[in-house]
Amino acid sequence: MSEEVQDLMDMKIAANNDTEEKIETETKKDSSIFDGLQIINVIYYSLLHIAAIYGVYVALFRAKLATQIWLPIFAALMGSGVTLGSHRYFSHKSYEVTTPVKIVLLIMQTMTGQNSAFTWAREHRLHHKYSDTDADPHNAARGFFFSHMGWLLTKKHPLVLQKGRTVDVSDLLSDKLIMFQHKYYIPLYVFWGVLVPIMIPIYLWDEKPWVSFFTVYCLRYVVVLHFTWSVNSVAHLFGNKPYDKRIYPVESALVSWITFGEGTHNYHHAFPWDYRVSEFSTLISLTTRIIDLLAYFDLTYDRKTASQQVVHGHLKRHGDGTH
Ligand SMILES: [Zn+2]
Ligand SMILES: [Zn+2]
Repeated sequence: MSEEVQDLMDMKIAANNDTEEKIETETKKDSSIFDGLQIINVIYYSLLHIAAIYGVYVALFRAKLATQIWLPIFAALMGSGVTLGSHRYFSHKSYEVTTPVKIVLLIMQTMTGQNSAFTWAREHRLHHKYSDTDADPHNAARGFFFSHMGWLLTKKHPLVLQKGRTVDVSDLLSDKLIMFQHKYYIPLYVFWGVLVPIMIPIYLWDEKPWVSFFTVYCLRYVVVLHFTWSVNSVAHLFGNKPYDKRIYPVESALVSWITFGEGTHNYHHAFPWDYRVSEFSTLISLTTRIIDLLAYFDLTYDRKTASQQVVHGHLKRHGDGTH
């Protein structure tokens, strides 16, 4: 491949990756988490975590066997709602889906309780556009806790609000189904995200309502939240950078295991349009395999990938040498 072609390819990557203007993070690691603390959010997340810890006890000692079996299955389904839906489809549109699949993804996305698909995708696009600067909602330059969950306990940095308005969400705004879920998110969440998960064990195997609440609602919710948050914290701080050493995101096997393949985050930030989120198909690339399986039945299509030439050209120039 000629130098000229390689340069053009790198420019394409840069256009996807770089910020319009350089923003340096001024809010440093040691800036206090107590700056702009939102007390309501602190109380909400504290209560949720206490309920989830109690949920561990309930799951181990008070729940029926059917609930104990259902809990990890349901948590895995909800995790897939984040990886297949919120992340790879709604945020990146790295593959296309048929309308029935889109409706299923929207229902699963609603059940995860992580805001509407529109809000999730807009924040995630902002995260990619201004990664690890003050305009990134979960700026990892502010340390592990902030990027993990501190960002949900504090006031948004003014640059997050300002730059949030510059993110292109025209595809989402013109999608009637996505905007319907956004508009009616609260009632939809109460039904799909709270009532349905709690009612399944009660109806199907006569579980006690309070047991169902503390296990499949509280415990499952908090576990899936932490697994999701680990992509923003662990996979931005602890690992190698074979594709681009200039950025924070890393390759983290641990995060890949708990998020069905989302831990190859250095690759993902270098080539965000690639539906595989990785160059390699490994045992844990479960999300990719589900998309492929759905594609076999023509339920998903137009799966975008980064070519080997682009990947290898980029990593030769910018990788840390660990490839
Ligand atoms: Zn992403
Ligand atoms: Zn990231």
